[in-house]
Amino acid sequence: MAGIESPHLLAGTGAPRGVTVLGSTGSIGCSTVDLLERNRGAFRVEALTGNRNVELLAKQAIDLGAKLAVVADEGLYGQLKDLLAGTSVEAAAGDQAVIDAAARPGGDIVVASIVGTAGLRPTLAAVRRGALVALANKETLVSAGAVMTREVEQGRATLIPVDSEHSAIFQVFEFDRADAVSKVTLTASGGPFREKSLDEMAAMTPAQAVAHPNWSMGAKISVDSATMMNKGLELIEAFHLFPVDEPDIEILVHPQSVIHSMVSYVDGSVLAQLGSPDMRTPIAYALAWPKRMPAPSQPLSLADIGTLTFEAPDTVRFPALRLARESLIAGGGAPTVLNAANEVCVAAFLEGRIGFLDIARTVERVLEDGPVGALGSLDDVFAIDADARVRAELLIARS
Ligand code: NDP
Ligand code: MG
Repeated sequence: MAGIESPHLLAGTGAPRGVTVLGSTGSIGCSTVDLLERNRGAFRVEALTGNRNVELLAKQAIDLGAKLAVVADEGLYGQLKDLLAGTSVEAAAGDQAVIDAAARPGGDIVVASIVGTAGLRPTLAAVRRGALVALANKETLVSAGAVMTREVEQGRATLIPVDSEHSAIFQVFEFDRADAVSKVTLTASGGPFREKSLDEMAAMTPAQAVAHPNWSMGAKISVDSATMMNKGLELIEAFHLFPVDEPDIEILVHPQSVIHSMVSYVDGSVLAQLGSPDMRTPIAYALAWPKRMPAPSQPLSLADIGTLTFEAPDTVRFPALRLARESLIAGGGAPTVLNAANEVCVAAFLEGRIGFLDIARTVERVLEDGPVGALGSLDDVFAIDADARVRAELLIARS
C-alpha cells in the first residue's frame, strides 16, 4: 500500500494566495494563467517560469504583475530582460533560477507544470518548504515514487493532483474511510489511435499522434496518450497518490472523456467525477482547494452527449500499459527506467528518428536489458534515470 494517507489542511486566511507557476508557457501553464487572469482578486503571482518561449513568458508576467519571471534557457536571459525593461518584474535565467523560484516562500501554491523529469528538482524545492503543490508533472511521481512521497510527508507539503483522473479520484476518495475503498478506476480516452490496427499504427506520423480527439495538450503527453503510456504513467501516479494497492487500480477506456475517474467502495457504491474535458476544471480545483472557484469550462450537458461508452484496454495494441504495470509491480527503479526511456523515445519519435511502435518496443528493451537498482534516495533516481537515457539513446542509434 502506498500513497499519502490524508492531505494536510491549509489554514484559510482569506488573503490572496501567492501562486508560482512552473512551466507557465505550456498547455497546463497557459490554462493556469487564464484562470489567474479571470480571478485576479484571489491570487497574487509570485513567479512564472518557462524554458524557451520568452515572449509569452514576459507577456504573462507583465499582465499578471508577477514579481519574477524565469527562463530556464540561460541564453535567453538578455532577451527576457529587454522584454521586461521598464516593468517591476524581475528577470532570472537558468535551471537553478527555476529551482530558486519554486523555493520562494511567496508562492503559497506552486503549480508544477514543467514537462518531464526536468520538473523534478523544482517540484522538490516547493515540496521541501511545505508548499501546496498543484501537481501536473506526473513524470516526477513516476520517476521518484516513494522518494517523492517521503519528501512530501517530511516537508509537510500538500500535493493536490491536477491530472484530470487523479483530481477526479481526489474529489471522491474518502480518505478517512480508505479501508472501505475496493477499487479505483482510471478512465482513458484511448487516444487518437484507439481504433487503429498495429499495421496502421506503424505508419503514424508525429502530427497524427499529437492530434488528440478530446484534449488539447503539449506534444509529449499527446504522444503518451497515443501510445497509452500516459495511462500507464497515471497508474503509477495513482499508486503513489492514494492509499490503494496495485491490483486495485483498474484502467477503463471511455472515449468520451466525460467520467474522469471513479472510486468503488465495499458496499457497492461507485463515486465518479464528471465534467467537460477542459483542464481548467482540475486546475481550478487545485488552486482553490479546499474551496472551489469558478472555471470557464463548457458546462456538461449529458443530454447533448447522449451516450457514454466503455471498453477494456487492449494491451496487445498498446503494450505501454502492460510495461507500466509490470514496472510498478517490479518496483524499485523500474518505473524510473520506464519514464526515462519513454521520454527519450517520445523525443526521438517527434524528431522523426524512430517509428511510432518503436517507442514501446525500445522502452521494453531498456527495461529488459539493464539491472534496476533500489530507489532509496534522490541520487538513486538521478543515476537510474541517466543510465536508462543512455541505454535508450544507444538502442535508438543502433536501430
Ligand atoms: P507543454 O509541453 O505544453 O509545456 C511544458 C512546459 O515546461 C513549458 O512551459 C516549457 O517551457 C517548460 N519546460 C520544458 N522543458 C523544460 C526544462 N528543461 N526546464 C524548465 N522548463 C521546461 O506540456 P503540458 O503543459 O502539456 O504538460 C505539462 C505537464 O503536465 C506534463 O508532465 C504532463 O504530463 C502533465 N499533464 C498535462 C496535461 C495537459 O492537458 N496538457 C494533462 C495532465 C497532465 P517553454 O514552452 O517555454 O519552452
Ligand atoms: Mg490525465
